[in-house]
Amino acid sequence: MPGKTNLLDFTLAGLTEWFALMGEKPFRAKQVFRWIHQRGVGDFAAMTDLAKSLREKLEATAEVRAPAILSEHRSADGTVKWLFDVGIGNGIETVFIPEEDRGTLCVSSQVGCALDCKFCSTGRQGFNRDLAVAEIVGQLWVANRRLREADAGVERPVTNVVMMGMGEPLNNFGPVVDSMAIMLDDHAYGLSRRRVTLSTSGVVPHIRKLKERLPVALAVSLHAPNDAIRSRIMPINDAYPISTLLEACRDYLEAAPRDFITFEYVMLEGVNDAPDHARELVRTLEGTPAKVNLIPFNPFPESGFGKTAPDRVRLFQRILLDAGIIATVRKTRGDDIDAACGQLAGQVVNRMKRKAVHFQRREARS
Ligand code: SF4
Repeated sequence: MPGKTNLLDFTLAGLTEWFALMGEKPFRAKQVFRWIHQRGVGDFAAMTDLAKSLREKLEATAEVRAPAILSEHRSADGTVKWLFDVGIGNGIETVFIPEEDRGTLCVSSQVGCALDCKFCSTGRQGFNRDLAVAEIVGQLWVANRRLREADAGVERPVTNVVMMGMGEPLNNFGPVVDSMAIMLDDHAYGLSRRRVTLSTSGVVPHIRKLKERLPVALAVSLHAPNDAIRSRIMPINDAYPISTLLEACRDYLEAAPRDFITFEYVMLEGVNDAPDHARELVRTLEGTPAKVNLIPFNPFPESGFGKTAPDRVRLFQRILLDAGIIATVRKTRGDDIDAACGQLAGQVVNRMKRKAVHFQRREARS
């Protein structure tokens, strides 16, 4: 018998089609879509303005199934980090960062990542699989529900989404675009294109495709002022070197909701953090409207990289600012809960591996 259809997998257009196959009118699909995404309801019986017969039909054939929470950690600064179960031994992570004027959710798009950036603990774990729409949107769906429960007065706790968790979102193009379409839909989360940011390591052909399909705000992991350093720490640079990448970024700006591209730059001690690197970065970015976000590196076991001292980060920032480039330093949030990309998921994978070894040993003994 086929399993139930997970309605979290559908955009509104997809849900309308599925309803049509069930012999139901389009406005019914819209109603259900609103119940699920705007009100965070997953139980058809609670969708009180639907006919009882429709609710029964939905209960028999469909479900609203987000990934299950493996753990939830709340940091003293308000940051919340969830680890979701996406299959045996696999965890993905989602982080909520509250600020005065916004609440940003950092969402994962893949289990692991194939791109092997040398400073990234997710990359070190290798690639496992792409996430489905229900698993991507499900992170937002669960976060809103959990945050509403914790703070009953807040109607929509998540005001911004960054596709910046585990994985390269552009390498899971279809499901990521559909998920972002749901985030933007006025019948769902109603976020503007400015409030949804996709962060990529620079998969150039897909940047061009994204411009046509759904040009949300774009952040690019640059992390180096020249090709030699970038290729050393990001193998993708061999396929799409900096000049090609920046050309795609300038082209993207024709459709982007902001008039600049955000460039992420992780500060790695002795690798890319010298004043000369900052000056070279200024020259590299000439002609590309840019904002640079400097990220203090958060060392993890066996990373092989060190953390740049804060005064050196400030000097780097000062050189960019003096050259007229907006440059910010990312605040480290949730330090007490280990909120850096990939780290908690790594711990779970290790824990699962330990468990597997434990069971194998037990079975071998019995
Ligand atoms: S930094 Fe991003 S693209 Fe690079 S390995 Fe990590 S998750 Fe993948």
